[in-house]
Amino acid sequence: MAGDTIFGRILRGEIPCDEVYSDDRCLAFRDVAPQAPVHVLVIPRKPIESLNQAGSEDEALLGHLLLVASKVAKQEGLEAWRTVINTGAEAGQTVFHLHVHVIGGRELGWPPG
Ligand code: AMP
Repeated sequence: MAGDTIFGRILRGEIPCDEVYSDDRCLAFRDVAPQAPVHVLVIPRKPIESLNQAGSEDEALLGHLLLVASKVAKQEGLEAWRTVINTGAEAGQTVFHLHVHVIGGRELGWPPG
């Protein structure tokens, strides 16, 4: 069921999160298993499973998520940072509620694994 993920439960207030930003369209909170000194997830309140399920009606929302990612990076004092959106299990997606990783605070290698 759409929205029936751990992030859906966080959005409904059923389980806690370490919130860093919130507005009417999205929520940003610290990743529970950080891969860098700063690792924040920006998620839409709308339960879109992944970019594969996003449609043209989501265009403004997707842009908003990236602007919030930038706001969070600035708030966290990051000048160089990375966004990651894993789409599909084989690409590393484990939670099927669209989310933008904001990762920084250390040197980041390229290409990613
Ligand atoms: P992905 O693998 O791209 O789907 O990313 C899912 C992320 O969610 C992982 O980095 C997890 O560490 C993170 N995560 C899972 N459960 C929680 C939680 N309850 N609070 C914060 N982050 C979580």
